[in-house]
Amino acid sequence: MKKIAIIGSGAGGLITSSKLAKSLSGEIKNGEVSITIFDKKKEQEFQPGYLEVAFRGTDPSKIRRPMKKLLSNGVNIVYDNCEKVDLANRYIKTEGSNEKINFDYIIISTGSSPDYDQIPGLREANMDFHTNAQNSSLIYQQVRKIKSGKIVVGIGGLPYKCPPSPNESAFMLDEHFRKAGIRDKVEITYITPFTRIYSAEPINEVIKPLYESRSIESITTFNTDSVDSGKKEITSLEGETLKYDYLFLTPPHKPAGFLKGSEIADEDGWVKVDKRDLHITSYDNGFAIGDTTNIPISKAGVEAHLEGVVVANNIIGEIKGTKKRYKFTGRTQCSMETGFHKATFVVGTYDTPVEKIVPSRTNYMEKKVMEKIYWGSLHGHYEWLFKYHFKNDYFQELE
Ligand SMILES: Cc1cc2nc3c(=O)[nH]c(=O)nc-3n(C[C@H](O)[C@H](O)[C@H](O)COP(=O)(O)OP(=O)(O)OC[C@H]3O[C@@H](n4cnc5c(N)ncnc54)[C@H](O)[C@@H]3O)c2cc1C
Repeated sequence: MKKIAIIGSGAGGLITSSKLAKSLSGEIKNGEVSITIFDKKKEQEFQPGYLEVAFRGTDPSKIRRPMKKLLSNGVNIVYDNCEKVDLANRYIKTEGSNEKINFDYIIISTGSSPDYDQIPGLREANMDFHTNAQNSSLIYQQVRKIKSGKIVVGIGGLPYKCPPSPNESAFMLDEHFRKAGIRDKVEITYITPFTRIYSAEPINEVIKPLYESRSIESITTFNTDSVDSGKKEITSLEGETLKYDYLFLTPPHKPAGFLKGSEIADEDGWVKVDKRDLHITSYDNGFAIGDTTNIPISKAGVEAHLEGVVVANNIIGEIKGTKKRYKFTGRTQCSMETGFHKATFVVGTYDTPVEKIVPSRTNYMEKKVMEKIYWGSLHGHYEWLFKYHFKNDYFQELE
C-alpha cells in the first residue's frame, strides 16, 4: 500500500487531499493507497474573512466550518499535530504519540502564523486580524467604540500572509469612519517597511492616488522595531518614533515550530522546495506547498491551491505510472479591497511582472464569488472554473 501523509488541513492540504482522493478512488477502494491528514484543528476558518469580521462585524461563525464537512470521501484524518518529519527514513512523529508513522509520500502544508516574539511590545498593543476569527471579532467591538484619535495601520514585519491585507485594512477603516460620519475626527496613518505604499509599482500606482483622496497618510521605509504600549509609541529601526491611539499592524509571520532547525528548512524554518514542482530539496517523495515554503512569492490561498493541484497530479501520475509531470507557474492572484465595493487584484507569475489592475466593482464581485465557492473549492468542486480562469497558469507540463 502507498501511504500519503498530508501535514496540515488548511487551504493547501485540503485541496491536495480531495484531488488525490478523487483521482485515486479505485486504488483507495482496493487498499492500494491511503491518504491521511494530520492536524489538531477540528474546524477551519476562511482567513480572508477575518477582515470582514474585524472591520464590518461579520459573525465569526459565518467563516468557520467543522473539519468533518471538509474531508472528501477516502481521506482519513488524525487530529494531532506533527512534531517531527524524517524524510530519509520516511516517517513522522506526532505530539500525541511516540509511534513512528511511516509514509511513502508526504506533503507539508502547515501554513504560517503571526510571530509576536520578533517585535517587543507588539502583542500587547496590537489589534490583530491575522490570527483567528475570535480575535478579529474583538477588534470590531473596539472599532465601533472609536470616536476620534490617531490610528496607525500597516505592515509590522516581514514576511506575512496575503500581501494586500494591510492596505485592505486601511481602506476598510477609512470606509467605516466615513460611514459613521466621523472621518474628520480620525487620523489614519499607514506604515510600511517598503519604499512604496504597495511593494509592486503597478499596484502602488493604482492605490497611491486613493490614499491621497481618502486622506490616508503614509510613512514608507518604516521597519517596526518595538512598540511601547504604555506610552503608545512605535519605534522604527530607522530611528523614527510614531504616536498612536489605536494600532492595527500585520505582524511578521513564522512557519510551524517543528520545522525550525530541521534539515528540510532554511534558517527561518521555511521549507526549501523546487519552485516549479514543489519537491523538497533533495527528496523526491516529499513536497511542501502554500505559506510554509521558502518560495519568494505571496503567501496566499490561491498559490496554496495551484501548488496543491500540481503536487497531487504528480503523485497521481507516479502511482498510476503515467509519464506526464506538471509544474506551478508562480501564479499569484490576491484581491485587494479598496473600500466602497471596489477591488483590485495583484496578479503575476514567475515570468510575468505584477499587472496594473484598476479597482472596479467587477473585481469586487469576483472576490465575492470566490468567497461563496471557497468551501466547495476545497472539495475540488470548482476545478473547471479554476482551469477556465487561470488558463495556462492553472498548471503547465514540466519539460
Ligand atoms: C486577513 C487575511 C486575509 C487573507 N486574504 C487572502 C486573499 O484575499 N486571497 C488569498 O489567496 N489568500 C488570502 N489570505 C491568505 C490565505 O488564507 C493563506 O495564505 C492560506 O490559508 C495558506 O494556505 P496553507 O494551506 O499554506 O495554510 P493554512 O490554510 O493556514 O493551513 C495550515 C494548517 O496547518 C496546520 N498546522 C500547523 N502546524 C501544524 C503541525 N505541526 N502539524 C499539523 N498541522 C499543523 C494548521 O492548524 C492549519 O490548519 C489571507 C489571510 C489573512 C490572515
